[in-house]
Amino acid sequence: MKQFFCEELNNVLSCFHDRIMSCCSGQIGPVYYEAYRGQKIDWEAFKQVKIEAFQKLNENDIENSPCKNCFFLRDRCSSDVISPTFNLINISHWTQCNCGCIYCARMFHSKGRITYKSAKSEYYDIVPLLKQLYKHELLDRKNLVASIQGGDISVLKEFEPMVKEFLKNGISRFYILSNNIVYQPIIEKLLKKDLVDYTTSLDCATPEIYFKLKRVDKFRDTVNNLKRYAAISDGKGITVKYIVIEHINDNIDEVTKFVNLMADIGIRNIEFMIDNKYVMFTNLDETPLPKHYGKLYLHFKQLCEEKNINLTLWSKTEFIINKYAL
Ligand code: SF4
Ligand code: SF4
Repeated sequence: MKQFFCEELNNVLSCFHDRIMSCCSGQIGPVYYEAYRGQKIDWEAFKQVKIEAFQKLNENDIENSPCKNCFFLRDRCSSDVISPTFNLINISHWTQCNCGCIYCARMFHSKGRITYKSAKSEYYDIVPLLKQLYKHELLDRKNLVASIQGGDISVLKEFEPMVKEFLKNGISRFYILSNNIVYQPIIEKLLKKDLVDYTTSLDCATPEIYFKLKRVDKFRDTVNNLKRYAAISDGKGITVKYIVIEHINDNIDEVTKFVNLMADIGIRNIEFMIDNKYVMFTNLDETPLPKHYGKLYLHFKQLCEEKNINLTLWSKTEFIINKYAL
């Protein structure tokens, strides 16, 4: 009987604000704990979820699997072993943020509120959960990557304790996403030790455009913090995103200023991305992507080459630019 396999199912645990589940789709995939709010967990039942999910990954049962139709599924081979541990944990259990990006996918949950003081998650605390996951040997202490990306880390009271918990128990690397408005000494430490890939979305090069995109007047703080971090690691481990939004920052002038600013600061990695909300809610076959996005991307590419900056494209952006704009 034909069997299927999924690396995500085998390796990933995602702690979302409303549930703990397998992969990061947030839509389909096996759920370890629905509506988690800090309840006591039956760990044997928890471990069983992965085992049963794999049992359904065969041609007879796939119709009943929460993974049905997922493009991550592939044929299983003899070297595929089901791991008792996870080596990637996605932490995204809070929604507060101290800015209000117009493209934010979390706005629906945070209701557009801007939170200035650090606060606990409205849903559950992550540190007690991490302790339990380590205690029950569910996290691979040697190869674990913690990907931290919920609202913004600077308003999450648990951010520093959580990082320390990982460091105490065993971690390989952090991937941290932040809007970079507040300087974080613990990020500084992680950069010094080369333990983090730190990503922020600046999306522009001027305070005026920043305000239009993020609804707060924090451009200078963000740039100053970026300068401080870049000076520590010589730009290593830092990526700055440019999320392009139609009629706001989708012009050659802003892109040019942005790449020049990044070069001055010493940033070595830029990621170019088309707004995810736009991608999700626009039928690109009926409403074609603005043609100038192709030109914008080529301009971006040329400038980055001249400045010796590594330019990556978010995977969907690459596909869409190639298909609709070039
Ligand atoms: S097959 Fe798809 S839905 Fe299932 S765990 Fe893997 S990525 Fe998630
Ligand atoms: S920084 Fe992130 S979480 Fe905050 S509003 Fe922007 S996209 Fe949303």
